Amino acid sequence: MSEPKETVGRIAVAFQIPSAIVVLFRSVVQCFAAYILLPKGSLSIQPDMSSQCSHLDEVRDVSPKTDGCEECLKMGDEWVHLRMCLLCGHVGCCDSSKNKHATRHYGNTGHPLMRSIETGEDWGWCYVDELEIAV
Ligand SMILES: [Zn+2]
Ligand SMILES: [Zn+2]
Ligand SMILES: [Zn+2]
Repeated sequence: MSEPKETVGRIAVAFQIPSAIVVLFRSVVQCFAAYILLPKGSLSIQPDMSSQCSHLDEVRDVSPKTDGCEECLKMGDEWVHLRMCLLCGHVGCCDSSKNKHATRHYGNTGHPLMRSIETGEDWGWCYVDELEIAV
């Protein structure tokens, strides 16, 4: 016969909770709710979207196919910086070059990942996700 007694005891305890604690608890819940709701539009999207490239498993162990921009070499043209496709090793010129062959290579082939092959530069780029990747 201990069950009913316990229930009565719980109700009694519940009624004894000072209202100040109830108010405090309520404001904590409200702060928590605001914390959950607020980042949905602003903060929470950034870390997820900006740090994830879904194409990294397409990277192949490639080396540069040519000593300079493949197309510019054929045309006898000049380039500013060189970028290498991480899927096929195509070497193209950067967007500061007038021909932008690296970006055009992405347009022609759909190969989304490239890296800089300039000395001392170790960054890559995903054209689809438009974010920097580790190389
Ligand atoms: Zn990507
Ligand atoms: Zn070029
Ligand atoms: Zn390629």
